[in-house]
Formats: sequence, C-alpha cells, structure tokens
Amino acid sequence: MSSFNVNPDQQAPDKEPTGLAGLASRFVQYRDEQAQHDSDDDSADDHESDHDDDSESTDSGGAHGVDPDDPSLGLVERLLAARARSSPDQADKITAILNSLNLGIDFTPPPRVLKTHVFGEANTPPTLSHLASLFKTKKYSKILVLTGAGISVAAGIPDFRTAGTGLYSNLEKYNLPHPTAVFDIDFYKDNPAPFVMLASEIWPGNHLPTKTHAFIKLLSDKGILLRNYTQNIDGLEVLGGVPEEKVIECHGHFRTASCTSCGSPMDVSLVSKSIIEDGVPPVCAKCGGIGKPDIVFFGEDLPSVFHGNINRDVKEADMIIVMGTSLQVQPVAGIPDYVSSKVPRLLFNREHVGNFDTSEYNYRDIFEAGNCDDGVENFCEMIGWGEELRTCYENAEGRRKLREEKITSEEEID
Ligand SMILES: [Zn+2]
Repeated sequence: MSSFNVNPDQQAPDKEPTGLAGLASRFVQYRDEQAQHDSDDDSADDHESDHDDDSESTDSGGAHGVDPDDPSLGLVERLLAARARSSPDQADKITAILNSLNLGIDFTPPPRVLKTHVFGEANTPPTLSHLASLFKTKKYSKILVLTGAGISVAAGIPDFRTAGTGLYSNLEKYNLPHPTAVFDIDFYKDNPAPFVMLASEIWPGNHLPTKTHAFIKLLSDKGILLRNYTQNIDGLEVLGGVPEEKVIECHGHFRTASCTSCGSPMDVSLVSKSIIEDGVPPVCAKCGGIGKPDIVFFGEDLPSVFHGNINRDVKEADMIIVMGTSLQVQPVAGIPDYVSSKVPRLLFNREHVGNFDTSEYNYRDIFEAGNCDDGVENFCEMIGWGEELRTCYENAEGRRKLREEKITSEEEID
C-alpha cells in the first residue's frame, strides 16, 4: 500500500516543483492514484449483491467527505500554518495551492481591510517616526527583543551554522555526511573530532559586543526590556552587560558544559582546555561519556528556560523588536507571530523576513532595511538616546577590559 508523506523535506523527483507546491502536486498525484485504485476495487466488487457502505475506508477522489485518515488533513494543516507565517505575496501563492487541492473548500481568506494603525489615527502606513514619537512618551515598557546572527556580524562573527561559510571548509577532511552533522548530537557521540576542531575556533573570547548589543543593554538599563531571545551562541549579549535573567539564549551558550551521556554538569574550564588546548573531546568523570559546552545541537531540545518563559513573555510583550535573523529556525522564528495583534513589530534586518507586513494594509509593522547597527543608531537618535548608546557601546565590559589590558601592556612596554 502506497502512503503519502506530508514531509516537505522529502526529496522530490527531478524536475517536479519543490517546496509546498511540490508537496501539493505529489498529494494530488497520490490522490488520483488512490482514486484509480479504489475504482479498480469497485469494479472487482461489482458482482457482490450486498454492498456495505460502512466498509468504505475512503471517499474516492477525497473531494467532499472528510475522512480522519485523509492525508490531506495533515497537508492542509501544514499549508495553513505556513500561510499564517508568510508575507502577503507568499500567502496568496499558498492560498492558490490550497485551492488547487480541490477539497471542496474555498481557502481564500476574507478580503483585507485598511485598519487604523497602532500608532494613532494617521492615514499613512506606520513609519519609524510614528513609533519613535510614541516610544518617547514611554508607552512601551515590556519590549521583547528577538535577535539572530545578523547582530553579531559587525563583531566579526560569521554565521557558522550556515553551510558554505569558511569555517565549514576546514571540516572537509572529516567527510561529514552533511555539513551540519558537526552540530548533530548523535554524530558527535560517534565522531567528536569535527566539532572539537570547530569549537576551538568559535569558542567565545575573541569578539566584542556591537552597538546593537549596547542598545539591548540600554533597554534593560531603562527597565523596559521584557526579554531578549537570541539565537546566537556567542554570548555577546551577556558580555555586553545585559543581565543573564533578561537573556534567553535559545540555542545555548559556552559558559557551562555537561556530559552528553549522563547529563552531569562539567567544569567548563576543563572542557574548554580539553577542546581548545588538547584538541580532544572532554571526558565525563562520572560516567566516561563525552562532554560539550551547553550549546544546543540538532536533535536536542531547547533549554528549559526557553519553554519556561516564552508563553508568558509573548502574552506580556507590548512591543517586539526583531534584529538580524532570517526567521528560519523554529520555534524561535514563530515568536513574532505569537505576540498580540495590537503589538507593534519593528524589524531591523538586511532583508525582509517572516510575515512583516509592508502592504497598504499594514497597521503595525515597521521594516528598516540595512545593517542592524545602522538601524539601531538611527532609531536611538530619533528617540534621544544617541549619546547614551555611544557611551554604552564604549563602556561594554569586554571592550573596557580590552582597553585596560592594552593600556597596561603599553605601560609595560614603556
Ligand atoms: Zn556523564
């Protein structure tokens, strides 16, 4: 019996549409085959005088009856979820795919209406100036900040999770089944060498917080940062002075380490010495398993601190700022969708991402295209924080220490 798999990651045959469109086309093909199969069965059953309708497992063609086992249910669910996360253009394409399934349901959403935007009565689309004006009145006091690799680019940190960056080319000699295997927990347990090599290069300590990190610290200093959810593992938020309880490092960090077998905490200084100086995986003193810094590998759950806070935080947030992320990795990528529909959403990013609305119907989204640091500096000037941002940036813990060390070493030379 053939089965239909709703996993869009499954490799589609050559020359067929890929992604959601490919998924839909494979589904239609599957359903037609099933319909053909059922009608063949019906012909074979024609001689039976008493036809038991209850034994019919599928409504052939699947167009009108809703069968709980109908694979289209999973597909429709996935398409609707994807549409909810999509930009208006992309959403239109997904609606077309949904309607092409011929399920007897019209998936076209009700027409969109122009709404008064959340910054007031203005009849123009919301702009950064509208937001800045309200910001200055202290209207927002529970700001959720969502950050990704883009905010650390200015610190010189490459997005090393993305295959194709220079860091991965060093791993060629290990013949990885796929580049991201280096961050796969099962792979690491079998073959720790590639991660040990990569970890020695990406271990924090050589990079300093950016202006964007300084901005997050300023929000915290002023008591209006609800939480910073970051996808980065570089630890620059904490190094930049954002209190640890205000930062949720969704993919973990290098400040602690533990055993991959028994889960026992391990001394991070011993773990870093083992990896960086000795180039070997750290061994757990309790069970003999191998350890690693507490960064989240593929195949591992997000830290409990994420699950423990996210639901409350998205409910409480009265503004969200998204910076430097492609919004590709769930569940973090979904955070901007979970805040209240009355909450303004500000995006500082090189490209448009997620479902930030840039259409005429937009009533709460602001997209500032460009480097995060530039966007942040501009916004800080608008709200009168320009000088404070510069001071905060210059005085970041790591930067100050570095300056002091430099002065000390210059004095020693003298
Ligand atoms: Zn152990």
